[in-house]
Amino acid sequence: MPLSRWSSRHEKTFGKKRKEKWNGDFRNPPKPKHYYTKTKGNCRWCGNVILNDKEDTINTRKSWHEDCATEYLLIYHSGEQRAQLWNRDEGICKKCGYFDLHWEADHIKPLVEQKGVKEKDLDWSYYKLDNLQTLCKKCHRKKTNSEVVLKGKGKRKVNYRKWSK
Ligand SMILES: [Zn+2]
Ligand SMILES: [Zn+2]
Repeated sequence: MPLSRWSSRHEKTFGKKRKEKWNGDFRNPPKPKHYYTKTKGNCRWCGNVILNDKEDTINTRKSWHEDCATEYLLIYHSGEQRAQLWNRDEGICKKCGYFDLHWEADHIKPLVEQKGVKEKDLDWSYYKLDNLQTLCKKCHRKKTNSEVVLKGKGKRKVNYRKWSK
């Protein structure tokens, strides 16, 4: 179950008839083709049928599995992303262990590594909750700086393990 409420902003994107061409924005990855179908009882995220809880009949009132809605909103809705992270980490920095009221959401494997990747080659693990962590402002800045330095030297490999303990 998503933690934040389905906003009207999202409802507006529903039910387009055809898959849109992706503009290549790695922060806003392309949606699956099922997203654009309007068939009730078929999940718009995974494309599988949605069954009623107790029987093996198709639930024709729904367009999303709850887990799929959660996953979808994590990617496309920054409020949901923060709500899920808060729920898991409660504002505690993964690096230094301190609570920061102004905690920040960090992608352990930097999302920018998906920049320029073709749609079929996108690595979706970058967009999962597992790849997100809470960092305090100070630690986040340090990590971002180290990534920039590494990139500047032409070494794209960041020592993730250092940042995910
Ligand atoms: Zn689904
Ligand atoms: Zn910290």
